[in-house]
This record gives sequence, structure tokens and C-alpha cells, in this order.
Amino acid sequence: MVEPPRLHQPTTVGDAVAAIREDGAVPIAGGTWVMRSPLRNEPWAKGYVALTGLPELRGVEIAAELRIGACVTHAELAGATAGEPWLRGLHRAAARSANPAVRRMATVGGNLCTAAFPAADLSPALLCLGAQVVVSGDGHERRLPLADLLSAPASALDGRILREVRLPRSDLLTGHARLPLRAGGGDYPVAIVSVALAAADGLIETARVAVGSVEPVPRRWPELEAALAGCPLDPAEAVRCAERTAHGWSGRDDVDAPGWYRRRVLPPLVGRAVGDALGARAGGAIT
Ligand SMILES: Cc1cc2nc3c(=O)[nH]c(=O)nc-3n(C[C@H](O)[C@H](O)[C@H](O)COP(=O)(O)OP(=O)(O)OC[C@H]3O[C@@H](n4cnc5c(N)ncnc54)[C@H](O)[C@@H]3O)c2cc1C
Repeated sequence: MVEPPRLHQPTTVGDAVAAIREDGAVPIAGGTWVMRSPLRNEPWAKGYVALTGLPELRGVEIAAELRIGACVTHAELAGATAGEPWLRGLHRAAARSANPAVRRMATVGGNLCTAAFPAADLSPALLCLGAQVVVSGDGHERRLPLADLLSAPASALDGRILREVRLPRSDLLTGHARLPLRAGGGDYPVAIVSVALAAADGLIETARVAVGSVEPVPRRWPELEAALAGCPLDPAEAVRCAERTAHGWSGRDDVDAPGWYRRRVLPPLVGRAVGDALGARAGGAIT
């Protein structure tokens, strides 16, 4: 008979880490990815350690830095960032991912720690805001760039848990655009673009652009960032810059879309993301 997985319910981060290290248990937060393991033909782990009851992993605090606990749900993040124009892109990412039921369960930590999930909405939004992550284990904490966690989650975590995300307060203009296959549906997006722009006198001074779902791991788009610097703050101009610099993307082929299509939709998505950021500057409603 197959033993059902064991569930650990720690009350401290230390106990959670001990369950991972000593019993080989796997962290579980909202469970929206873990619960679908059979659909991906992945076996259940022999044990899971529930993180959502840990108070240290909850809460959003907005001060000189923004601190987001790993067990904050997409819906909670959307609520906490709704009144912050500089977080418009992150708000959009949290408020538009998946569907309402998933957003009430899925957590920030699960979104960033799920290996082999290229279509996470929060990753590009946080990458272009210069986010860092704090991981706990061995009785101490380690802070590292989000890009390091995304590119090598196994070594960044290695028996640790993601405790929180931190990012510096800024006055950047931020925007987020995603292309689901079915409008309004819960499909994973074919491509995602997030932008964070510093601008003055109608010109872009510096740009950060991050892309999700096009390659296996979300990443920044340095060629476009360089091309946008000094350009007018204009979605149509951003589309032209994106068309000139899109050659470096190797789109991934998957059941929802071929790689060439993901690459092709990038320039218009860049235009939409810049338009979204401009809405923030114009004081447009955040929905
Ligand atoms: C139908 C459907 C559609 C979806 N569409 C989208 C979408 O469009 N965009 C989107 O962004 N998301 C989408 N999601 C959500 C997707 O599952 C995300 O990856 C989700 O955010 C995972 O969060 P979770 O808390 O449920 O993670 P879980 O399922 O609990 O865990 C996922 C992984 O992360 C690890 N983990 C979780 N928390 C931590 C932590 N603090 N430290 C270390 N490891 C940790 C777990 O061990 C596991 O490997 C969708 C989900 C479903 C079911």
C-alpha cells in the first residue's frame, strides 16, 4: 500500500526548515501548483510542510522598502498595492493573474519558487522593480537578487524557505501587460511584459523591462532597455524599439503556443505595458 504524504504544520520558520532538512518534506503554501502534480505526472512528495500558518511569512509593509511576506496571496498583494502609483505594474500582475479563486490561494512565494513554471506573473513585475528575496535556513537569513532565485531555484533554496521579498521604494512609472489565449479566462499567459521607467520632460531616462513566459525563465531585456533610454515616452516608439531588439529572444515551444508566436507578440505587449505605465502618471484608475 502507498503511504499518503505526511503533513507537517510548524509554528515557527525554524521548525519548518527542520522538517525540510530532517524529514525531506517539501514546502507547500497555497497548493495551487502542488495540487496539480498528478496532471504533470509528478509523484507526491513523501511529506509536505505547510507554510501559510507562519506569521513571519505574512503581511505587506510599505515603508522605505516594500516588504512582501512569502505567504501573501496574489489577492492580498493586489489589495495592498492598489493605492500606490509606483507599484501599478505589480498591482496589475497580482490582480490579473489566473482567476479569482486561484488568486485567493496562490502565494508570492509559490509563484517565485515553482521550478519549471515560466508563466508566473509576479516574476517579471518584481524583476523590473529591482526586487531581492530573503531566504531562511541554517538559523540565519540570506538576501539575494530575485534573478538568482529564478535562474537557479534549487541552489538558492537548498533546504531553505523563501521568507519575504524586498524592494526599494521608487518613483518609477511601472506597467504590466500579459497575453492570455482566452480573454478573461484562467489560461497561463503566452507572454508577459513588465516595465519600470524613469522619465523627465517626456523622455525616458532609464528603462527596466522584464519578460515572462517567452523563455523557460523570466528575465530582463537589456537590448530594449538600452534602446529606450533617451526615447520619447510613447507606447508607439516603445513598440518600434522592441521590434528592433527582439532578435535575442528564443521563444519556447509548448502546447499553448509555439516559440515564434511568443516572440512575435512581444513588441505590441511592450507598447501596452508602456501605455499602462503612462496611465499611472496620468493618474488613471488602477483596476
Ligand atoms: C488553473 C491555474 C491557472 C493559473 N494561472 C496563473 C497565471 O496565469 N499566472 C500566475 O502567476 N500564476 C498562475 N497560477 C498560479 C500558479 O500555480 C502559481 O505558481 C502560484 O503562485 C503558486 O503559488 P502557491 O502558493 O499555490 O504554491 P504551491 O503550490 O504551494 O507551491 C509551489 C512550489 O513552490 C514551493 N514553495 C512555495 N512557497 C515556498 C516558500 N515560501 N519557500 C520555498 N518554496 C516554496 C513549493 O515547494 C512548490 O514547489 C495558476 C494556477 C492554476 C491552478
